[in-house]
Amino acid sequence: MRGQMMPNDLLISDLLEHAVRNHAQQQIISRRLDGRIVRHSFHEFAQRCRQLAGVLQDLDVRVGDRIATLAWNTHRHLEAYYAISGIGAIVHTVNPRLFAHQIEYILQHAEDRILFVDISFIAMVEAMLPRLPRIEHVIALSDWGDKPQGERWLCYEGLLSDQPAHFAWPRFDAQTAAALCYTSGTTGQPKGVLYSHSSTLLHAMAACRADAIGIGPDSVIMPVVPMFHVCAWGVPYAALMAGARLILPGAALDGAALSELIQSEGCNIALGVPTVWMGLLAHLRQHGQRLTSLQRVVIGGSAAPLAMIREFDQVHAAFVMHAWGMTEMSPLGSTNTPTPELLALPAEERYQRQLSQGRAVFGLHMEIFHEDGQAMPHDGQAYGHLKVRGPWVLAHYYRSDVPATQDGWFDTGDIASIDAQGYMRIVDRAKDLIKSGGEWISSIDLENAALGFPGVREACVIGIAHPRWEERPLMLVIAESTPLDIAGLRQYLQNQVARWWLPDSILEVSELPHTATGKLSKLTLRAHYADYYQDLIT
Ligand code: ADP
Repeated sequence: MRGQMMPNDLLISDLLEHAVRNHAQQQIISRRLDGRIVRHSFHEFAQRCRQLAGVLQDLDVRVGDRIATLAWNTHRHLEAYYAISGIGAIVHTVNPRLFAHQIEYILQHAEDRILFVDISFIAMVEAMLPRLPRIEHVIALSDWGDKPQGERWLCYEGLLSDQPAHFAWPRFDAQTAAALCYTSGTTGQPKGVLYSHSSTLLHAMAACRADAIGIGPDSVIMPVVPMFHVCAWGVPYAALMAGARLILPGAALDGAALSELIQSEGCNIALGVPTVWMGLLAHLRQHGQRLTSLQRVVIGGSAAPLAMIREFDQVHAAFVMHAWGMTEMSPLGSTNTPTPELLALPAEERYQRQLSQGRAVFGLHMEIFHEDGQAMPHDGQAYGHLKVRGPWVLAHYYRSDVPATQDGWFDTGDIASIDAQGYMRIVDRAKDLIKSGGEWISSIDLENAALGFPGVREACVIGIAHPRWEERPLMLVIAESTPLDIAGLRQYLQNQVARWWLPDSILEVSELPHTATGKLSKLTLRAHYADYYQDLIT
């Protein structure tokens, strides 16, 4: 017998109208590219979204059309999110930090019809437009007249001002595509992940839960993670769903700009990758400042180092919540939410536990598997290939005929352990694990250990071919102030990790390459240092 309840046809436009009906006066605070702060109530914001929907309809945008954005976290970008998906088209967020040829490839592959562009990217787009004949209009996210000449160029505020504040959102199936995001393509071409209205809303509901990120009307939440990176981890949807105050930091993501915004707006939850927090903490340290409003820092994208967890707690009384996921998972998979047991632990013991990427959020099932396909025990020791399934996990890449899953599971490419309470710990990305003499070394654990040594600002460990051991770790470090006491660091590491894990060489470097999503670019480094041990030995 089937249940007799109404069908699930919730759309992103329903989320917007819900937010207005129930939290009309809640605010979206946005820092423009010129540094000015603008505030819109949910009521005003929704009116602007409806106006933009009218613009898109006048430009003949149809259900299923791809509309791209190259933009920072601002209210206009957020309006594009809601208006594009609201009319049944697909908001395709493009990462402006990718190489120009990758951006062109992505725009061509997605066959975008319209491109929204922040003014900081106008020159880049002007240069590539001749090779993008499918793009009919480029809308500069700017005030009146602030756009290049040329027949394809339009001005955002000019278009909006001609539209009424009423718009009847169309109804369609909740499985309809809503947003498109490409992976960063560290190996091979970027691949498209196409989210639906249903997957987006389920994911947002899961993110809000108290046992996940914990977002509510008392939250003042700032996604520092860009809206071009996996939809800013779903915060643009979750914040409106929960009636939270949303802060969009614009283009200035340096330590000074972030600390100023956190303090002036009373931000209590902020989300981002570790490199962003390194910048913020360095700035605060240098100026002897303390953050007073921040309660929770959600860190994902790469492992949060122990030293960072400690510093946020001890200096700023902010809890670091590790979250794990990926583009193919919308992205949320697990969160290390504080529990009474965790908070009762002595500080250092608690920090160790906070290193875990946490427990699965409701709706997401994760398991670890041996090479031979056997599921492995949840004992906190055994580690294997981490696979996931759930309603916001990818089944097919965009415009690919090959299913992305095997046996119903999506292979994340990560190696992890899971303990009896469900806490998962990423050991490494499968391709970054270092195979030495038939045993595995975790590059993440080694980096984490190095970051505990005073004076180390950033550390990167890669596996390099070795004539005797197959691979051996090479450590590259950036010092807070040069020169670094390398012998002291080596001594320190001896007490932190197994002896055979110690890197054969530790090199001090002035900078480390990062990918377009802020991760250490180990691929580049492995290529650069490929023969390092070979040359050293011969
Ligand atoms: P891409 O795959 O395009 O680099 P994603 O942002 O989708 O970008 O990256 C997902 C990967 O990032 C995960 O598979 C995992 O290796 C890593 N990752 C994400 N969150 C964490 C975390 N909290 N700790 C350690 N690694 C993480």
